Amino acid sequence: MLDNPSDLWARCLQSIKHKIQPQSFQTWFGPTSLKHICTEKAVIEVPTSFFADWLEEHYSWLVQSTLEEETNRKPFLVFVVREQPGQAQGPVDFSLADPTEPPVPAAPQRDAPGEVKPVFPLNPRYRFEQFVVGGSNEFTFTAARSVAESPGQTAFNPLFIYGGVGLGKTHLLQAIGDFCVRNRTAERVVYVTAEQFISDYIASMRQNDHSEFVKTYRNADVLLIDDIQFYVQTEGCQREFIHTFNALSQNDKQVVISSDRPPATLKGFEDRLISRLQWGLVTDIEVPDLETRIAILNQKAEERGIDLPHDVARFLSEQIDSNIRELEGALTRLVAFAAHKHQTVSRDLARQALLRRSTRATPSIGIEEIQKATADFFHIPIETLIGATRKQEITTARHAGMYLCKSLTGAPLKAIGDHFGNRDHTTVMHACRNVERKLIKDPGFGDMIAQLRDHIQGRLVA
Ligand code: ADP
Ligand code: MG
Repeated sequence: MLDNPSDLWARCLQSIKHKIQPQSFQTWFGPTSLKHICTEKAVIEVPTSFFADWLEEHYSWLVQSTLEEETNRKPFLVFVVREQPGQAQGPVDFSLADPTEPPVPAAPQRDAPGEVKPVFPLNPRYRFEQFVVGGSNEFTFTAARSVAESPGQTAFNPLFIYGGVGLGKTHLLQAIGDFCVRNRTAERVVYVTAEQFISDYIASMRQNDHSEFVKTYRNADVLLIDDIQFYVQTEGCQREFIHTFNALSQNDKQVVISSDRPPATLKGFEDRLISRLQWGLVTDIEVPDLETRIAILNQKAEERGIDLPHDVARFLSEQIDSNIRELEGALTRLVAFAAHKHQTVSRDLARQALLRRSTRATPSIGIEEIQKATADFFHIPIETLIGATRKQEITTARHAGMYLCKSLTGAPLKAIGDHFGNRDHTTVMHACRNVERKLIKDPGFGDMIAQLRDHIQGRLVA
């Protein structure tokens, strides 16, 4: 029996409070409450859909791991917008946030002297111990371990890790940070997405005060920058990256970067930045083979206390062959499906659970490819797709494209908005919500989206 939601939530908040910056805590968790919790799900109420999106994208792992600590269970999280009597579902409320850019969730932290903590919270599930090593990732894993053991002291500086979506880049970056913190091989570990790095930079420019920014990033002993393929769009930002790298490497500090593609093919990056990224070691993570996928799935099942028969693990790993996140998602769905049907997990049930979805895993794919395929599918020029036209059929195509960018690449909303004619991230969020609502109501629309998805994936295979 789980206890009263408000007491439980109060305990979770106490714990979360110690894990993130006070300012972020107040902004994002202050106005939340736990509406309902059962074994399978936890429903968290938030003031606006913007909050729901932000929390889901940035803090769901934190909420989930905290709930797990408190309850020994791992419910799915559902963020719902609190109903306010008489208030229509209107535009997003930005009273706490600047609408022109994503809020900066973590202000630089002032450490007590001698205290070792990462500057941004790390996910405790992403450790080296939980990373399954196989032929596809062995070399990169070894490089990551070496860097974590002797940050700044190896030739791998920067260490540049690239690979497709869901293959463990974030896991490895965070594992490096976690190792350094726990083994005290570095004092100041900073993990940041490129998106956050840039929004911190922009915020510092706006406030005309660069000192906090410089203090956070240029004083890091280990700087881990995730998903650099997004956001290095302006010259100022690129310059900032270069300055930061130079400052760190001059002092033998470690930089680790992840990307979905090798440096030379990063679009819109200046040559000197690309060459800077190639100074150390550039290494990739490939799609794991079947045996490794099975081992990863077993590891995930064990972490979650799920009893996963071998034939089921093999079946799922055969079906989903190129993205570990999807593989984990399939396990989650299977467990939910089994609970729903009051049956134990079996191969037959797995087949049923996967039946309703396309079992072909998504190869690594970028926003631009999706845009091209979408424009082609709707027989419109790409300029029209991303342009300002508000004609119904063009808007539909644009929304569908944004939605598939989000679901197929997992790219941040801001990156998608940037690619769609520099639209704001909230526009993308509304487009995705629109599509989701229509998918529920209109089967014809669902077929159209499915065809478009096949068209996009077909072009990749072709
Ligand atoms: P990426 O950043 O490359 O898109 P992630 O690091 O987020 O991918 O990985 C997606 C999921 O797959 C995570 O839950 C991660 O723990 C898991 N994963 C990927 N590769 C491995 C591996 N070799 N061993 C264990 N888990 C893995
Ligand atoms: Mg990642």
